[in-house]
Amino acid sequence: MSEAFLPFTRPSIDEETIAAVADVLRSGWITSGPKVQAFEAALSALCGGRRVRAFNSGTATLEVALRLAKVGAGDTVITTPLTWVATANVILEVGATPILVDVDPVTRNIDLDRIEAAMLPTTKAIIPVDLAGLPVDRDRLYALADRRGLRVIEDAAQSLGASWNGQPIGSAFGQGRGFVSFSFHANKNLTTTEGGALVLPDDIDAGLCERLRLQGVKRFPDGGMDVDVLGGKFNLTDVAAAIGLGQLPHLAAFTARRRDLARAYFATIDPALGLPLPPADFANCNWHMFQPLLPPGVDRGRFIAAMKARGIGVGVHYPALHLFSLYQALGFRQGAFPVAEDIGRRTISLPLFPDMRDSDVVRVCNAMAASLSETA
Ligand SMILES: *Cc1c(COP(=O)(O)O)cnc(C)c1O
Repeated sequence: MSEAFLPFTRPSIDEETIAAVADVLRSGWITSGPKVQAFEAALSALCGGRRVRAFNSGTATLEVALRLAKVGAGDTVITTPLTWVATANVILEVGATPILVDVDPVTRNIDLDRIEAAMLPTTKAIIPVDLAGLPVDRDRLYALADRRGLRVIEDAAQSLGASWNGQPIGSAFGQGRGFVSFSFHANKNLTTTEGGALVLPDDIDAGLCERLRLQGVKRFPDGGMDVDVLGGKFNLTDVAAAIGLGQLPHLAAFTARRRDLARAYFATIDPALGLPLPPADFANCNWHMFQPLLPPGVDRGRFIAAMKARGIGVGVHYPALHLFSLYQALGFRQGAFPVAEDIGRRTISLPLFPDMRDSDVVRVCNAMAASLSETA
């Protein structure tokens, strides 16, 4: 008897949410409107009352945050090579140049000890990434940024529901001058199918953010309008926002379930397999992903195929981005960020999503042991 295929992730959408989407579709107003406003208000409540604007992707929020921070041609921005490529692509998109800084081998996030040495006089901002939902140390991050006059754009695409020292990611760290970017892509801990949100430091940024989000349009009470800045087309629809509103009441339970499953992985993975595991940070992490590293020398492609043959999906998040052709063509060299390269070659994302059963963890662990003995 073979069991159903277990994907590495799957969204949890309840019937109420599906009904709420149908209501929006029947309402006569399907693009940005009251549902987006309600979603922004609900997100703001999660972020200590800060200003939040919804977008059609996390990528768009990062790009707009860079524009709000006045980052452009001739500027440099510090970020990590071990992230979804969107984080670095947006730096190129606004005409600036990424400066990559290798990651800490334990947290797998940007190594804060190496940032000052990498800074140039042109460096305007830093984009830290909370990989797999494990937050970057916000106290050290903002102390460093403030000392050197850098703007911070927190790429929190993976860390909604996580916290740092008891304070939710998205709320104000440092002096509250940071931007925070969330993604609601289908695979993230909270989804709108596609979507994102930007947490903003002040009202001036919020106003300009709205124009950069939609063609630069500024509307006047008398019905007139002006366009004084080049904006994009990044607004979220009410259909998508209705999904987000349906997801939000479950976020705490989703995070708690992910935490329980992560605990089960730590308890069940046989230490004799020799897989380095992520930090067991149950206070801060939201367990967006659970990522062991394969032992050196295991062929990851063959391992993933062996897991698939046993009905289990395994993801890869991510190869170090400077090894991609585009970044090689820009002058980044293999060997430049050895920690990120090594993790990027060995990392695997095991199935982890709220609707998984405890028995699925056992199934994954048994399949890993069998697949490793086959591919060793
Ligand atoms: C998902 C993700 C993004 C981009 O979000 P989209 O909504 O897919 O545009 C950016 N950075 C990181 C780290 C991500 O995981």
